[in-house]
Amino acid sequence: MFFPVLIAMMSLFGTNEPPQRVYSRLEYSGEKPHVILKTMPPLVYLDPGHGGEKGHGCQGYDGRFESEANLLLALDVKAALERGGVQVLMTRDADVDVPLYERARHAHAIKADCFVSLHHNAPAPGKDVMTRYRAVYSWNDLGKSLADQIAVALEPCQSLHANFAVTRSDEIASVLVEADFLTHPDGCRDAFDPVVRGQIANQIASGILAWRQAQEE
Ligand SMILES: [Zn+2]
Repeated sequence: MFFPVLIAMMSLFGTNEPPQRVYSRLEYSGEKPHVILKTMPPLVYLDPGHGGEKGHGCQGYDGRFESEANLLLALDVKAALERGGVQVLMTRDADVDVPLYERARHAHAIKADCFVSLHHNAPAPGKDVMTRYRAVYSWNDLGKSLADQIAVALEPCQSLHANFAVTRSDEIASVLVEADFLTHPDGCRDAFDPVVRGQIANQIASGILAWRQAQEE
């Protein structure tokens, strides 16, 4: 499965470099995640990454910042989920700073069904500036069940293991989506194109809905 997906990614995205940020010392247990659905209608918490004076995130090819791209994408994902009958809350709906460790706190307090942090990527210093791939990161089996569904909906996209502050929950399924590389000219164009971004948002929303559906079966 992995190899054909990689080929598909290479053909669609051009120059690629598989993600290196995988924590091999931390293995998924392989056990079926224990998901407790608490809300009806479902409640999804979206987290547009970064924001505020000091939290721009990476800078895109056209000079605009990741914080703006993340918020635009989150608003589109919110609209798509609401069309699917899902309640949505967000950690921010403007260009404001939200402390990293505060982001998931309310989602846990109100027992949201899942927490989805939305980001755009940039290559590590010294890496190929034309790097471009999509990935959804999770920390445990609970998060992986959601990451896998979003990755399928976003294909070509990898579901990867990573230790992020916003993905460590063992209570609600938590993932971080790197929707595209803002540093890549095509990735930047797509992120700020309302039509393309709307399609990506629909894919992310359909992955979340498929995950929710699978929990109910
Ligand atoms: Zn980011």
